[in-house]
Amino acid sequence: MASERAARTVVVTGSSRGIGKHIATRFAESGDNVVVCSRTIEDCERVAADLEAEGHSVHPVEVDVSDKESVENLVDETVEEFGRLDVLVNNAGINIRGPAEEMSAEDWQTVLDVNLTGVFYCAQAAGKQMIAQGDGGSIVNISSMMGSMGQQDRTPYNTTKGGVNNLTRCLAVEWAEHDIHVNALAPGYIMTEMVEQAQEDAGFDQQDVRDRTPLDRFGTVEEMANCVQFLASGDNFVTGEVLTADGGWTAFGWGCKDD
Ligand code: NDP
Repeated sequence: MASERAARTVVVTGSSRGIGKHIATRFAESGDNVVVCSRTIEDCERVAADLEAEGHSVHPVEVDVSDKESVENLVDETVEEFGRLDVLVNNAGINIRGPAEEMSAEDWQTVLDVNLTGVFYCAQAAGKQMIAQGDGGSIVNISSMMGSMGQQDRTPYNTTKGGVNNLTRCLAVEWAEHDIHVNALAPGYIMTEMVEQAQEDAGFDQQDVRDRTPLDRFGTVEEMANCVQFLASGDNFVTGEVLTADGGWTAFGWGCKDD
């Protein structure tokens, strides 16, 4: 009979809503100890309370990933609560859209601070803890299919996601000797508040996305959680990889399906 896997301790940043909430929920349902965190502690407490009511082991923490001290506190609280840290999912992310020639220095910096520096701070603090534990670990960075393409009005977002892809490769190479697997997931369009906002700002509708996606639909938060489970498992010889989950968008390349 196969032996049961020991519970891992998992931190999912930006897990108060959207994709992160579902990634955290899936780990909790798999029997892992989960830290739910974002800038809004009330939302994290609500997510944690719902999961705890179902018998899962969850701890809410307030964190701003762009603040190094706040990130170090996140890892300290995780270790205080659960004794160790096995998996980090760097999911927190933001988007500020606008023409490159008009982008303010402040908006540019804000997106870099959260989407790229924040991923580095979290990986650094978690990696230090995993190295000290001495028995490996997994880091999954939530990138985007936009990280490997250009698009109008998305310069900081796409640039940071491209940076996350190469940060993933660098850390995978550097921490391989500690058996820490570092991978990225690059989703296509998933319907969350971030995409609802983008729809409002850019005026595209759901049909525009479907017309450009070979699988003819949006991806789901459950599908993203499936991908993260695979990448976080650490038993697959995969590290330094960017897994694209976009319904064929980037494979397709140009035009609309019916052209
Ligand atoms: P949402 O806007 O729905 O959720 C973002 C989450 O990040 C929230 O929990 C938010 O909570 C948290 N967050 C934002 N800033 C910070 C910060 N500075 N520190 C800590 N937490 C923060 O986004 P999605 O669920 O749509 O996106 C999640 C990730 O997936 C992002 O990295 C995004 O770029 C990526 N992605 C999303 C796609 C999509 O189609 N939805 C496609 C490709 C990639 P709070 O505001 O309380 O801090």
